[in-house]
Amino acid sequence: MPTTIPMLDLSAQIDAHFDEFQAALSNVLRSGRFILGPEVEAFERECAEYLGVAHAIGLASGTDALVIGLRGLGVGPGDEVITSPFTFFATGEAIRSVGATPIFADIEPDTFCLSAASVEPLITPRTRAIVPVHLFGHAADLAALERLAQARGLAMLEDAAQAFGSVTRARKIGASAGGAAFSFFPSKNLGAFGDGGLLTTQSDEVAKTARLLRAHGQVDRYRHAALGYTARLDELQAAVLRIKLRHIDRWNAQRRAVAALYTERLSRVSGIVTPIERAAGEHVYHQYTLRVLDDRRDALQKSLQEDGVTSVVYYPVPLHQIPLFEKGPGKLPEADRAAREVLSLPIWPELDHTHVHRVCDAIERGLKAAR
Ligand SMILES: *Cc1c(COP(=O)(O)O)cnc(C)c1O
Repeated sequence: MPTTIPMLDLSAQIDAHFDEFQAALSNVLRSGRFILGPEVEAFERECAEYLGVAHAIGLASGTDALVIGLRGLGVGPGDEVITSPFTFFATGEAIRSVGATPIFADIEPDTFCLSAASVEPLITPRTRAIVPVHLFGHAADLAALERLAQARGLAMLEDAAQAFGSVTRARKIGASAGGAAFSFFPSKNLGAFGDGGLLTTQSDEVAKTARLLRAHGQVDRYRHAALGYTARLDELQAAVLRIKLRHIDRWNAQRRAVAALYTERLSRVSGIVTPIERAAGEHVYHQYTLRVLDDRRDALQKSLQEDGVTSVVYYPVPLHQIPLFEKGPGKLPEADRAAREVLSLPIWPELDHTHVHRVCDAIERGLKAAR
């Protein structure tokens, strides 16, 4: 029995750059500076340049970037924030954490991202912001959402946790006026060796607030202007991320090559739907996510497991079905259907293409057996 193919294997990347990582980490240890030093500063500068954005602020996690980004935009108690229900818990959690109410709009069936058409009818006088999620690495429809936000006087904060490096309309995601939240959780496309995050923004004011809030609202020693957080990216993680940033375009291209092979093998297999890319460069395949039709998803997943192939359901419960959040006024049929049908397959930049064939063979076998 061949070994089981995992969802993700970081070892190839660590092995390939081990000496570089070790040298960079040693430098930080010898410097004795662990919080807000030269590595974080350099990483922020390099990220701002890479993403084409005025400000990049290193934070302790993607969730902190969402929370601090929302507060920077002035979102607080009594406000409504329209977002996608088909996302990781943290998107809704962050909105709730600042005292606002998440209002869930439905998703586009082809990209799984927030649908601008379903946002519009949910806007009320209390709506303050829109939070689109670039889910699985596919850029949300920023053009339509930005137009809507502008027309209705709303702020927009991108949840870009899964999509570092994705490009839409010839610009990187993460460069919208309000801001964007990135996560460097180890499994993300750009991942640290621990937790980390980044807030980007074009606004000097949002950037200033974010820098205050990440360090206890401290203006200078013992002068505090707001209740903030302990939410800084640390020097060790920044040193690692600086090395990885230099390779992110190649790694995303490798992910896209893996995805292209999956799609070539699977797009004509009946009973499943392969992911689409709306325009070239919009998808950086944080996940390669199929739809499995006719209620056969769970059976297929079980058969894959027996065949030595790991797969994961991101996400089995949309946020509007979690009792911590409100159900909202409308029905969300596309989010509910996605939760029943999606199945994510193993993907990482160095995933061997013979393994991709093994996964595809197992899917074909599994679908035949589940018929
Ligand atoms: C990972 C993730 C987050 C949270 O990032 P952390 O760094 O784990 O706090 C937020 N939103 C989405 C969509 C994510 O995938």
